[in-house]
Amino acid sequence: MGEVHLKWMREAMAMAEEALAAKEVPVGCVFVRDGKIIAKARNRTNELRNATRHAELEAIDQILADKELTPEITQYPLSTTTLYVTVEPCIMCGSALRQMGIKEVYYGCANDRFGGNGSVLGVNEELPHPVHPSYRSTGGYCREDAIMILRRFYITENTNAPVPKSKANRVLKTEILPMVSTPTGPI
Ligand SMILES: [Zn+2]
Repeated sequence: MGEVHLKWMREAMAMAEEALAAKEVPVGCVFVRDGKIIAKARNRTNELRNATRHAELEAIDQILADKELTPEITQYPLSTTTLYVTVEPCIMCGSALRQMGIKEVYYGCANDRFGGNGSVLGVNEELPHPVHPSYRSTGGYCREDAIMILRRFYITENTNAPVPKSKANRVLKTEILPMVSTPTGPI
């Protein structure tokens, strides 16, 4: 597994840790262009009470608002930019990334409930689109860390759940099942 990808994914994990500390679902990401991080972000859905404020869209907003990073209006402002995100992008983010022309995506663990890069719906490349080019998305980078931080969050926290469940019997599971290989790569 490429060292350079792991290096960037560790930066994304640091953002997920920041999310955890802020009592947000711990997902973090960095966008890399020309060997440098140009934006990094984490979930802010609870803070902003806005279910669209996922890490990826937070970072895209930063990139588009910065005139040095986005000097002119173009159809695909992320065509030379790679995303590293700790969890597979959801269907909403997966679609937004395609509309922005993202070059490529690397993620940590699969998103079994909302995944938009193949787990639930393959909006990145399986679904044909008349205009927007597809992008490759590869999982498995820092996967165990990405899973464990989500477990740490869900075992101690979900004050926003409609009916809080008793936490008395919760035990942090540490067993992680192996990845399932798919034709598009490990998820
Ligand atoms: Zn999302």
